[in-house]
Amino acid sequence: MTVALPPNSTIGIIGGGQLGRMSAIAAARLGYRCHILTPEPDSPAAQVAAGLTLGDYEDQSALRAFAARVDVITFEFENISAEGLELLASLKPVRPSPTALRISQYRLAEKSFLNGIGVPTTAWAAIDSRAELDAAVARLGLPAVLKTARLGYDGKGQALLREAADLAPAFDELFPRPLILESFVDFGCEISVVVARGSDGAMVAFDTVENTHRDHILDLTYAPARIPDPVAAAAQFLARRVAEGLNLVGVLAVEMFVTSDGRVLANEIAPRPHNSAHWTIDACPASQFEMHIRAVAGLPLPPAVRHSDAVMKNLVGPDEIALWPEIVAAPGLIPHHYGKTEARPGRKMGHVTRLFPRGALPGDFGIAAALGPLAPAQV
Ligand code: AMP
Repeated sequence: MTVALPPNSTIGIIGGGQLGRMSAIAAARLGYRCHILTPEPDSPAAQVAAGLTLGDYEDQSALRAFAARVDVITFEFENISAEGLELLASLKPVRPSPTALRISQYRLAEKSFLNGIGVPTTAWAAIDSRAELDAAVARLGLPAVLKTARLGYDGKGQALLREAADLAPAFDELFPRPLILESFVDFGCEISVVVARGSDGAMVAFDTVENTHRDHILDLTYAPARIPDPVAAAAQFLARRVAEGLNLVGVLAVEMFVTSDGRVLANEIAPRPHNSAHWTIDACPASQFEMHIRAVAGLPLPPAVRHSDAVMKNLVGPDEIALWPEIVAAPGLIPHHYGKTEARPGRKMGHVTRLFPRGALPGDFGIAAALGPLAPAQV
């Protein structure tokens, strides 16, 4: 049994983005200080944290200086090397473990791990040469998705292969990085579950939610997902199995597809707070960020209950954040700004949550109306 971290202890967070920012805000409410490691001088997380080590994630002296100033370490950012995280783990407790990070960083390890614990995914193959790609396409068929096995996010580093002529340009663009070929999933919708697990093995999971994307970036999350109960329950079961299989301490997101015939297939796991659970800040007594901090600090995990239904809309790039004056003036929109000064296309600048009474999530027209200035042009 982990001894709970006393108030005024310091939690080190690797990464300076919005996930670190919202974690630090949740930590402050529980009486903890957060200390951020980031190379970015004015980061969203450091703006609201008690301390900062400005340094590169692979700089050993920065990692040591950071570890010396904190009591426990977590991460909001997955692109630190597992070696860097292992160095930190030799100095202070790191939660989740470097192993959980290592698996989630590498799609091939992730898929093998998932299948090994009985969590279904689409059919896949590791690709190390053009001949292997041809053989895998012959086996899995088309359409298929060719992805880099490392460092891909938000649809970067992947290509859809519809016909034989697509293979050469996709391969030439992505090779010589290690690649994975995945059978294309003709999904009915995309869903996710965020589960929190304490060091004593206790687990709580937020309700299964539904996600829609624009330009490969999460646009809207609907809580709860508008899917049959048994499908939502199957997703909960799989997410808990993943958290247990990783011996997770912290929170974990599992992104899944619901196929047109109602099966649930895991796509990706992220051992950290996740964009698809930002709604929990406003719709739950304890948010995903609070759960994360509680798990990392060894505090008990309260039930992951939802007092309201919710829709979360991301504010992406210069056009959406330009609506900020209208957003803060709109009744019923709960605004979250990440404090980023530069709005580049595709950059997540903030999000809004709109709450509805439990069981009263409206249809698409009602949701569009409720989003006011953020209503999509076409419903
Ligand atoms: P990922 O980087 O794996 O999260 O993929 C980004 C998005 O691409 C997903 O949210 C899906 O919309 C789509 N996608 C990824 N893999 C597949 C697949 N095997 N079949 C169909 N769509 C996919």
